[in-house]
Amino acid sequence: MKQIIKIRFSVLCLIFVFICAFVSGQTKLKQLDKTVCFGMHQAQSRKIDVIIVHSVFNASEGDKYDVDLVIKQFSHYHVSSHYLLGRDGTIYQLVKEKNISYHAGHSQLPDGRTGLNSCSIGIELITSTEDAPTDAQLNSLVALVKDIKNRYKIKYVLRHSDIAPDRKTDPWNLNWLDFQKRLGN
Ligand SMILES: [Zn+2]
Repeated sequence: MKQIIKIRFSVLCLIFVFICAFVSGQTKLKQLDKTVCFGMHQAQSRKIDVIIVHSVFNASEGDKYDVDLVIKQFSHYHVSSHYLLGRDGTIYQLVKEKNISYHAGHSQLPDGRTGLNSCSIGIELITSTEDAPTDAQLNSLVALVKDIKNRYKIKYVLRHSDIAPDRKTDPWNLNWLDFQKRLGN
C-alpha cells in the first residue's frame, strides 16, 4: 500500500513538473511593436552572436523619458536599436532581430571584430546620467537577454562602453556585475 502511494505521488510530481515546463515554455515576453524604417536596413540572413546594452534619453524639449520623443531623436540621428525599454519596463521592438539596426557605431569586440551592427542585437534602456534604470527595466532587461540567449548562440553580452570606450559611457548607472549575476554568469 505504502509503495502504491509513493508511486502515485511520484507520478503526480512528474505531471506537475511537465505542466510547469510547458507553461514556462509558452510564456512569451510582452513586447509592443514600434517598428521604425530609419537607422536600419533589412538583411537576408545574418549570424547573431552579440548583445549590446545601451542607454538613452530625450535631450530635446519635453519629457526626457518619453518613449516617442526618444524614437524621434533616433530618427533625427538616423540610428535605432532592436529594443527600447521604457521606464515602466515595457519592451518596445523598433527593429526586427533579423534586420540590422544602427546602434553600435565605430566599435570593436574583444576578439577584434568591427562592424558590429551586422552581428549584434542592440537594447536601449531609457535612463539618464543622473538616474539608474528602474527595477521594472532591469527585470525586463534580464528576461529579454535570457530570451535572446535561448534563441541564439551568444558569445558576448557587452555594454556600449565596452566596445567603444573612447566615445561612449553608456549604459549609465547600470550595476553590470549584478546584472551578470542575474543572467547566471
Ligand atoms: Zn549606446
